[in-house]
Amino acid sequence: MFVAVDDTDSMKGNCTTFLATEIIREFPELDLIGNPRLVRLNPSVPWKTRGNGALTMRFGKGIGRKRLIGRIGSRDIFCYDRCASDEPDPEEMMRRIIPHIQEHHEEESDPGLLISLRKPSQKLYWKGVRTVLSRGDVDPEIRAIGGITFEIGCGRGLIGCACGMAWRPRDSTYELLTYRPPERWGTERIFDPLTIRDVEHGYPTTFNSWEDRMEKVAMVPATPCPVMYGLRGDVQEDLIKASGEISTEPIERWMIFLTNQGTDDHIIRDPGSLVPNQSYLIRGSVSSKSRHIPGGHVFFDISTRFGKVECGVYEPSKEFRFVPDWLDIGDEVEVVGELRENPRTLNVEKIHVISTVEEHRKISNPVCPSCGRTMGSAGSGAGFRCRKCHTKASEPVTETAVRQIVPGWYEPPTAARRHLSKPLKRMGEIQPVEFVNGRNR
Ligand code: ATP
Repeated sequence: MFVAVDDTDSMKGNCTTFLATEIIREFPELDLIGNPRLVRLNPSVPWKTRGNGALTMRFGKGIGRKRLIGRIGSRDIFCYDRCASDEPDPEEMMRRIIPHIQEHHEEESDPGLLISLRKPSQKLYWKGVRTVLSRGDVDPEIRAIGGITFEIGCGRGLIGCACGMAWRPRDSTYELLTYRPPERWGTERIFDPLTIRDVEHGYPTTFNSWEDRMEKVAMVPATPCPVMYGLRGDVQEDLIKASGEISTEPIERWMIFLTNQGTDDHIIRDPGSLVPNQSYLIRGSVSSKSRHIPGGHVFFDISTRFGKVECGVYEPSKEFRFVPDWLDIGDEVEVVGELRENPRTLNVEKIHVISTVEEHRKISNPVCPSCGRTMGSAGSGAGFRCRKCHTKASEPVTETAVRQIVPGWYEPPTAARRHLSKPLKRMGEIQPVEFVNGRNR
């Protein structure tokens, strides 16, 4: 039996992943089939709270391999690879889950709960992670699979429930989430940052936990939610081992979620047209120098098969803003990012520099071939002229400038990355030039 919940939290607190652990706690007589799943959907939906994450779980009678995936209080939580044919009663599950949603949702949220024996079509996942949907887009599919639902407010959470439940992973990662005891929620989190640095360096299969550039922890939230930290990686066993090496205040529970984080599933690679509130990989050639505006945001234009696209690199991207400064007109790039509606800019998540043009820098006026003296300017746009011999030249003496940027992939610091963005570490890429010594102009 598949269970999905979404839209229970607000910026003030709570966390749908915590609610998922409460639902798991509610059913000690049932087995989890596979890990609980944290499925991130379109990061551009205007009404998301933070990371647009939906939670789905499968319960039943487990058979096959049994794996430890968490602990709640003193109870170890296991999951099984497969399930037997006897399924739990969906109405009974609904009756027992509703009080948890009522307890753990925030006033301004619009929670949804979906329980179904069958999964929605996987097309719904791809639409949910890449486009903006309405209830009208998901309700027929919920009816078609015979799902039963519960909703509060406008029940928008059911969109995330249906799309999250529809996920069949093509690429996937794990996140080990740890939770604080309720009496500590909202207080300052106590942990040793250096143990987090050592884990990021010591476990190559983990990612996004530590920021080397800024020497800063990236895996500990700053919100008053119940989460202590989230450790992300490709291998579950590594996450369990590595979390044992991170020093924090006491943890009340932990759980490993299967996720689509770090997969780039939200990126439309070969778009027919560009629609706002969706994310794209667009190829083009740089057609302007960078422009800085107050607030530390930087913009540049690329010329593409869709015409001119303005790209924005915002202040939280910090030194990643050197990239637009280093680019030159004519450089070939692939820009990955979300197309905003207003202003219509592509909010850059990653840049692939494919090729760079040669940049020439003037070193002096040309020399007269007859007398050997340096020519003077012949007037604005008129080239150069030797005052004595009246010889002319159109170009100054130049040298080939050393370009700051070289072909390769560039990404912002961990804290400015989208949950869905595939980090270079997972792409097997290393940024060819590090951002040191500040801007070059
Ligand atoms: P958190 O990351 O803290 O769990 P959140 O960012 O997931 O919070 P929600 O409160 O869940 O924020 O709000 C997201 C809302 O958007 C949900 O109601 C969800 O159903 C809906 N939603 C998700 N994907 C889409 C989509 N593609 N189109 C339209 N609505 C969507």
